[in-house]
Amino acid sequence: MSRLIEQLREDGNLPEEKLQRLLQTDEYDRELFQSAMEIREKYYGRKVYIRGLIEISNYCGNDCYYCGIRKSNQNASRYRLTEEEIMECCRIGYGLGFRTFVLQGGEDGWFNDERMCRIIRNIKGKYPDCAVTLSLGERSRQSYERLYEAGADRYLLRHETADETHYRILHPPGMDLQKRKECLFNLKDIGFATGSGFMVGSPGQTVETIIKDLRFLQELKPDMIGIGPYLRHKDTPFKDCEDGSIELTLRLIGILRHLFPKALLPSTTALGTIHPQGRQLGMMAGANVVMPNLSPAHVRNKYELYDDKICTGDEAAESKAHLAEQMSLTGFEIVESRGDRAE
Ligand code: SAH
Repeated sequence: MSRLIEQLREDGNLPEEKLQRLLQTDEYDRELFQSAMEIREKYYGRKVYIRGLIEISNYCGNDCYYCGIRKSNQNASRYRLTEEEIMECCRIGYGLGFRTFVLQGGEDGWFNDERMCRIIRNIKGKYPDCAVTLSLGERSRQSYERLYEAGADRYLLRHETADETHYRILHPPGMDLQKRKECLFNLKDIGFATGSGFMVGSPGQTVETIIKDLRFLQELKPDMIGIGPYLRHKDTPFKDCEDGSIELTLRLIGILRHLFPKALLPSTTALGTIHPQGRQLGMMAGANVVMPNLSPAHVRNKYELYDDKICTGDEAAESKAHLAEQMSLTGFEIVESRGDRAE
């Protein structure tokens, strides 16, 4: 094993210039992935945890330049699920073996604390053996506290970039990196299992900003880290920007597995979109979670964060069976459990 990978394994804290080298060449990839798989096996075996993703609304008050459901996109066909529809997704998901439900959406005021808490209580009341994860963007500390008290277990909020200047490139005035970070520290402090992350290859990203992302994550110590390639959407100001690369995304998953041995690392939908075997490749680079879509078929193509987002039109049951088969071909096994982080 090369000295660099050995050092990464030993203390996970490579000095700046070594991290730069690791990020910039493919020369360590084989060893990196092999070593990441060993770490993954130590804590999680060949298990793959599944999360049923329910996209509750594509209304959004924010105007992030990269995102297809941004407020200014007049071409987006807006929807929000009813509470009954959300419960129906959970019912179907439970029958398929899902024991975590992720409620994700744009920042939609309709889903205020009262409605969200009722939904969370309903899900936890009916399925006490399941975890509820939320991904609803920035809210006040008080709001997060209410959601936690209602029974939500986890919260996903990507920081998107830890570099101030880069944050300004990606977001309109009024959005603020400090505020984002404050939300993340609040979530952790309240007791949520907390997830953060960033897009790989977003416009303006450099090796330096990526290193800042890694350093920020080391400070935050999240339980979950989601990364996926940036992919363009035709109705955004970034429509002509290049997509992120699968190579760098996989390399970063491998690095994250070393820096955060026990973290829950999803092989994301964006990774599955950029390459037909993307999600299996993610597993082989050190990921241990996948989040199949449980949203009702009629809204799936509307939650369009980027062009061509994978959405087979299959019913949830078919796509889960297909995924299980694909995973088993590469020696991974989908398990029916909440899939909490290893102790
Ligand atoms: N409103 C929630 C959920 C956002 S969607 C929130 O703010 O957290 C979830 C993630 O999709 C975002 O955090 C972002 O990293 C990713 N995303 C958005 N647009 C994307 C694009 N064009 N390409 C790749 N990923 C994108």
